[in-house]
Amino acid sequence: MNHTFDALVVGAGFAGAVTARELAERGNLRVLVLERRDHIGGNAYDCLDQAGVLIHQYGPHIFHTNNKRVFDYLSRFTQWRDYQHRVIANIPDGKTGGRMTYPVPFNLTSLETAFGLEEGRRLGDKLLEAYGPERKVTILELRQSADPEIAALADYVYEHVFVHYTMKQWGQTPEEIDPNTTARVPVFLSRDDRYFQDAWQGMPLEGYTPLFEKLLDHPGIAVELGTDALKRLDLSGDRVRVDGEVFEGPVIYTGQADELFGFQFGPLPYRTLDFRFETLPRDDFQGYGTVNYTVDEDYTRITEFKHMTGQVKPGVTTIVKEYSRSYTGAPEETPYYAIINPENNALYARYQEAAGRFPNLRLLGRLAEYKYYNMDAIVARALELSDQLI
Ligand code: FAD
Ligand code: UDP
Repeated sequence: MNHTFDALVVGAGFAGAVTARELAERGNLRVLVLERRDHIGGNAYDCLDQAGVLIHQYGPHIFHTNNKRVFDYLSRFTQWRDYQHRVIANIPDGKTGGRMTYPVPFNLTSLETAFGLEEGRRLGDKLLEAYGPERKVTILELRQSADPEIAALADYVYEHVFVHYTMKQWGQTPEEIDPNTTARVPVFLSRDDRYFQDAWQGMPLEGYTPLFEKLLDHPGIAVELGTDALKRLDLSGDRVRVDGEVFEGPVIYTGQADELFGFQFGPLPYRTLDFRFETLPRDDFQGYGTVNYTVDEDYTRITEFKHMTGQVKPGVTTIVKEYSRSYTGAPEETPYYAIINPENNALYARYQEAAGRFPNLRLLGRLAEYKYYNMDAIVARALELSDQLI
């Protein structure tokens, strides 16, 4: 056998980079990482734009977790900037003809802004009595209420926060998509206006890419950028071949499962995003990391990076608008979101079964597992898989 590595990792996002580090460090293996893009970091990659503003090229990434193992693990490779993500909805105000803003997740403060102080408080008290303080109630659950006033309020929130945003993001209504998706952003019976309540949240102090550089900086790891692993991997026989020869070491694949098998059962559906970046000659554009346009506009949200990264850069700021659409498989598109439903899960299961025929092949990550994972969930899964393999 002529291979100069003991394990192969496809993809240098969180799934691939954490597994590579673990296999090299704890498992004492020589690990080859192949990455199709010309940079590491997967979708968490960040870099300076032409104006010198630190941006996230594939959309805003805020780290948050309740998993101590994940937080402690990543803290070996980065310090953190304390950042609590806050998002506001920006919607047309029917009464004034101007715009209105309030916190998302829709909470007790949002209620007072939308309905006025007195009426908002009364409705808030009613919700607190029905569900209890600090409760997170999904919009679908709230709409089930038999109380006509709560049902009317649920309709308001549905109309002003969920239905149009969800149509823009998914091309479907909240009832049609996986209920776990809207449950990520519940109605929150609280004054806490943060987007996440996790025990640990923040941004890597120097950015995500330096975190990945440190993760992959180990004598047992070799990274090849600009390399499509599908040109080197062969699954046409009953054993995995790499560069033409049978390879029996672990192969951790973090790309699309359908692509790995030549789309033989048909393509898995995804949503993709178009990111439109704008650099503006001012200190501050919107005062918040993210503003959601929940009723109008073609984009879903605008993110202004300086608020998240804490970068001090007077006189200039960069924002990004996100436009969602169907993924067609065109080479310039990225499959960002799996469209989770029973039919697509069944299609995915066929690819999973095909992968299962190769005992040393593991599918790991948001693409390879066809799931809606946050970064911390991927890191947790990479650590667990490494526990098994070592
Ligand atoms: P990826 O980061 O996609 O990495 C997979 C890598 O594999 C890519 O670099 C790809 O180029 C490479 N690859 C694929 N096929 C091949 C091949 N054939 N050969 C070689 N290389 C290949 N999570 C959070 O926790 N907080 C957030 O705020 C957050 N915001 C998000 C915003 C957006 C717009 C999106 C889309 C996701 C967001 N996420 C967020 C989720 C986060 O991006 C993922 O959890 C994480 O990136 C998953 O890591 P991964 O390694 O599984 O996949
Ligand atoms: N959502 C919504 N309005 C909002 C925010 C979220 O309708 O203002 C719904 C929408 O369906 C979205 C889902 O909740 O896709 C999850 O939102 P999240 O912000 O977690 O999405 P992500 O950041 O992963 O794109």
